[in-house]
Amino acid sequence: MKPWLGANWKMHKTVREAREYVARWNSLVEESPLGEEAEVVLFPPFTALAAVGEALVGASLGAQDVYPEDQGAFTGEISPLMLAELGVRYVLVGHSERRHILGEEDAFLRRKFDALVARGFVPVLCVGETAEERRAGRTEEVLLRQLEGVLGGREAFPGTFVVAYEPVWAIGTGTPATPEDAAQAVARIRTYLHGRFGAAADGVPVVYGGSVDPENVGGFVRPGVSDGALVGSKSLEADVFYRLVRNA
Ligand code: PEP
Repeated sequence: MKPWLGANWKMHKTVREAREYVARWNSLVEESPLGEEAEVVLFPPFTALAAVGEALVGASLGAQDVYPEDQGAFTGEISPLMLAELGVRYVLVGHSERRHILGEEDAFLRRKFDALVARGFVPVLCVGETAEERRAGRTEEVLLRQLEGVLGGREAFPGTFVVAYEPVWAIGTGTPATPEDAAQAVARIRTYLHGRFGAAADGVPVVYGGSVDPENVGGFVRPGVSDGALVGSKSLEADVFYRLVRNA
């Protein structure tokens, strides 16, 4: 499986800054193309999606969130139809910041996942334990609960998606999990997916996220550990993220 690498900009970059980033990214890719060696996805904030989508070379477009209805009285929300018109292919579901700061729960995330699949997007389902849950030895239980909350009870494989294992304590802290810990969690997720969907799920990329940088990415993105990385802080400069992709 070729590495999957996501750049989650979170709530960073105005449209002008996003344009500057893409111009630099494009010049790096044109100078030294990435070819087919990786699937790279940029996740700008909603306001910059159109500008990024119009100019971007050598990467796919992703959105950081979605509301699970096509239209209606949902002030402030963005629908799958709106994202489709902008050329968005991937959408994050259940990032820890939405679970823990915005209070989103599994039942709501399941609706998002279903709405995305129905509209032909590729959801990126984020799961991961907090530091407290980890200390209490509950990592596996939490991962299974989050997976089952969104994927459980289905008759059939829902279609293409990605799973990101992102331990909450490693996100934005500069302290990543060890590749051994990541490998263990990814393996557990893989076993779950295979148990639920059989061989159909074996092609689902399971990636690691949490303080990944250009120097440590090689330890996470390799056979036996994970199929890629979801990157926050180190995706905010085009040169740094490009280097990270190159090193993966
Ligand atoms: C993330 O936002 O998904 C993330 C992993 O952030 P960081 O790389 O900054 O830890």
